[in-house]
Amino acid sequence: MPIKVLPARLANQIAAGEVVERPASVLKELLENSIDSGATQITIDVEKGGHKKIKVTDNGSGIVKDELMLALSRHATSKVAELEDLEHIATLGFRGEALASISSVSRLTLTSRPEQQTEAWQARSEGRDMQVLVEPAAHPQGTSVEVLDLFFNTPARRKFLRTEKTEFNHIETLFTRIALSRFDVGMKLLHNGKLVKSLPAITSDDEQIKRIQQICGTSVSQDFLYLDSQYQQFRLLGWVSRPGAFRSVNDTQYVFVNNRMMRDKLILHAIRQAFEGQLPPDKFPFFVLYLTLPHHEVDVNVHPAKHEVRFHQARLVHDFIYSAVNDALNSGGACAVEQAGPEATADSGSALTAKPASQRHNYQPDRDYIKPLQSYTPQTGRYQGSYKSQSATTIEEAAGNYTQLMRPPVSQTDVPHPEHKESAQAKYSRGFEVPGMGWLLHKQEQVYFVPMQNLIVHYLQARYLTESPVSQPLLLPVSVVKNSQIDTETLCHNAARIGMKLEPYHNKLILKQVPVGARNQRWQDIITALSDADECTLASLLHCLARYWQLDGQVDTQQLFEQYTQSVALENFAEQGIVPVPLHTWLQEFHGN
Ligand code: ADP
Ligand code: MG
Repeated sequence: MPIKVLPARLANQIAAGEVVERPASVLKELLENSIDSGATQITIDVEKGGHKKIKVTDNGSGIVKDELMLALSRHATSKVAELEDLEHIATLGFRGEALASISSVSRLTLTSRPEQQTEAWQARSEGRDMQVLVEPAAHPQGTSVEVLDLFFNTPARRKFLRTEKTEFNHIETLFTRIALSRFDVGMKLLHNGKLVKSLPAITSDDEQIKRIQQICGTSVSQDFLYLDSQYQQFRLLGWVSRPGAFRSVNDTQYVFVNNRMMRDKLILHAIRQAFEGQLPPDKFPFFVLYLTLPHHEVDVNVHPAKHEVRFHQARLVHDFIYSAVNDALNSGGACAVEQAGPEATADSGSALTAKPASQRHNYQPDRDYIKPLQSYTPQTGRYQGSYKSQSATTIEEAAGNYTQLMRPPVSQTDVPHPEHKESAQAKYSRGFEVPGMGWLLHKQEQVYFVPMQNLIVHYLQARYLTESPVSQPLLLPVSVVKNSQIDTETLCHNAARIGMKLEPYHNKLILKQVPVGARNQRWQDIITALSDADECTLASLLHCLARYWQLDGQVDTQQLFEQYTQSVALENFAEQGIVPVPLHTWLQEFHGN
């Protein structure tokens, strides 16, 4: 075939493939346009799940008569003019393709009246070259875009549309997200002539929770903690499920970046990490979070439908979100986080009972979910499950290990080669891990339990006694409220001995540096533990550190266990807290039940 320039309609239909997937994606583009036009009231009128009609009416700035034609052409936009503009996009749209694309695969009419015009005009495009016809019309100030018979001229794509009900579900989801992105815009949704949702515009911060309740439901909203954190030019505010609250489906997880809804992997990862260990397996946290940052810090020109963004300082954004959420979840502990502010201790109610301005989180831990009751698996670096379910599996596992431990290594006849026998015996003397709790060691016809703590202390001693720790600055300093009773100078001095740089600042302590490779330790808890320490030998400091230290995946725990148990003589077991385990009795009881 010879090379030819495509007719406008065909070129637009090809472009439509990228952004117009289904009625909800049409609605997304239209709503974004309305919001960009400064509308404060938007009405959405849908028929047959959007198959037949999607109409969006707004009271925004409107389009002057002479520009109606341009609005429907491809690569025509009022939002960017030159390359530099792409670096700080403040509007939701900027590609100038949506209206052209949608009108190439449907019957679209655009009606508008800007404030300065006394009469309204209507435009639609026709034919393969998509010439635009402009006619007078009646319309109040603002714009209406009506999209009829989506994909009527692209049967292959029409085939992919689902039932009216499914498509309307997608529309409702989209409506919800947009409604959460702009509290100040009143929104109405009608389906087949019936009013489905009506959300009045929210003008004061105090009323934001009303929209959250309307959208997420009252019961979910009651379990929300409010958070508002700022670091440099980054701000994260919104609501996260309090520890102990969760959902069985991940249907209430909303993230907005500069008011643009997102499903961004980096952000979700940071949030998930902050919730790690707080939830039973297969349960999901819920959250509505708003990240704001300067437009030049984020590239939105990455995805045609703009579901993803790219952050220039991705790691910093990740860590900021992680610590903001993590601090909110932990703020019920002994150390109040900086973001909570001193006034936070005054209100202990849920986010709903307090006024949003002072809706600072002050979480009282739910006793079933406090961390110490959860077991930590160093190999995976995770807390697992609630104590109850974990302890059952732990016992079972331990019992299995024990049975193996007590079985005579391997009978002579089974093992033809002496080296096989040897290796079996070697394995046998190496002990068995009780995940997250410690190890079982068989020594001189007795089984001992070696607590995990001992291994961690041993690890820290090896780390600190052989060389003095090298510190590394934290990307985001950790801040804790200072307990007035403590001797700050001693605390900071002790912290320095184990590689932490801790400095007083007003009524707070700011942790600026930590030992290399230890960025993700639970520093708030560690600071609290250090403030409570009465003795100040290095050994006692290391014990404090060990209380909250988590071995990361890099540490070979088997090796650590072997080194440690070899370093302690049997007669010193008791003083080290290594106790004989009456496993026979225990196992009998376990099987008896
Ligand atoms: P983009 O939003 O990327 O600029 P669109 O094709 O969605 O491209 O819209 C083209 C232009 O039409 C916009 O830049 C804007 O100037 C104008 N426009 C579209 N919808 C509206 C609306 N509801 N109110 C005012 N102007 C609008
Ligand atoms: Mg647009």
